[in-house]
Amino acid sequence: MSRVYNFSAGPAALPEEVLKSAASEMLDYAGSGMSVLEMSHRSKEYQAVFDDTEATLRRVLSIPEGYDVLFLQGGATLEFAGIPMNLMRTGSADYLVTGNFAKKAWQEAKKYGTANVYASSEDTSFDRIPELAGLHPSADASYVYICQNNTIFGTMFTDLPETDGKPLVADVSSCFLSRPLDVERYGLIYAGAQKNAGPAGVTVLIVRHDLVEDGPALDCCPTYLDYKKQAKAGSMLNTPNTFGIYLCGKVFHWVEETGGLEAMERRNWEKVGLLYDYLDQSELFKGTAQPESRSIANVTFRTPTPELDAEFVSGAKLKGIVGVKGHRLVGGMRASCYNAVPREGIEALVAYMGEFERANA
Ligand SMILES: *Cc1c(COP(=O)(O)O)cnc(C)c1O
Repeated sequence: MSRVYNFSAGPAALPEEVLKSAASEMLDYAGSGMSVLEMSHRSKEYQAVFDDTEATLRRVLSIPEGYDVLFLQGGATLEFAGIPMNLMRTGSADYLVTGNFAKKAWQEAKKYGTANVYASSEDTSFDRIPELAGLHPSADASYVYICQNNTIFGTMFTDLPETDGKPLVADVSSCFLSRPLDVERYGLIYAGAQKNAGPAGVTVLIVRHDLVEDGPALDCCPTYLDYKKQAKAGSMLNTPNTFGIYLCGKVFHWVEETGGLEAMERRNWEKVGLLYDYLDQSELFKGTAQPESRSIANVTFRTPTPELDAEFVSGAKLKGIVGVKGHRLVGGMRASCYNAVPREGIEALVAYMGEFERANA
């Protein structure tokens, strides 16, 4: 068996320990005589798996009392609709349009009310987080929405926008569990699990209870997307992604056992720092995100030509470095350095970039 260095943007690398542990339990989970895949979601055994998953996440992220934790399906994309349906009580909300997923969320929200643009970086091809100083939300906005880490463009918010006391809603799909997060600064945070938290098919959604206790803002909200009902049913209004949630639980334990989020953040900045340092002195490769907006996870870069980019990507594969092709919208390269990508992987990538640059000087 030989494992590659996997820089895929999602679904993405998972910790080897997690995969091995799941494999060892595949035929018989904890003496139950069956796989978690085969287990009723209403069984005592499964409820224990679910409860442990939630409790571990609450410890790792220090989620305060007052917040509901939901494990949903439909990806981050379904919540682009779920968020306005649940929270747009005034008929309007403000969106920071900082990349492809933020724009999609903004466009989806327009189906349900007025979605204002609070700030945008589209005019510079989303190469940065816009300047936030002096900006305030619209007076009647129900919430302010951000995509905290822009997976395709390689940018990340470090400062949060001023919300004048309105709830901040954040898509944290590609920076979830990569660093500590002060949950209390948000009304709602959510993440598709397939970047840093587990397999595709699970969305983790953390919402301040008082924002949903009156039920959804819009009567047309499907029962499945009703955060109040989901919270009351313990994310089991219907059959949840039982196996996916179990795998997320294993990842949460792995984060805790490897030192928690502060240690994770330190390792992650060291990892991407190797790439950013290389890019800053390279004559051939150019980082595409403005330095002050750089992501902790997704490092985007390019050579002068698409042909050379393609050559770089195919040459990487021969060295066991995969998933470095940029998103189809922007081309170039992207190395997604999520939690489970080891430092040796980034070292191998940087070494290959050096070789490639010397060969193409
Ligand atoms: C991957 C990603 C999405 C889309 O997630 P799906 O689960 O495929 O719907 C949305 N937002 C961000 C920030 C992402 O990285």
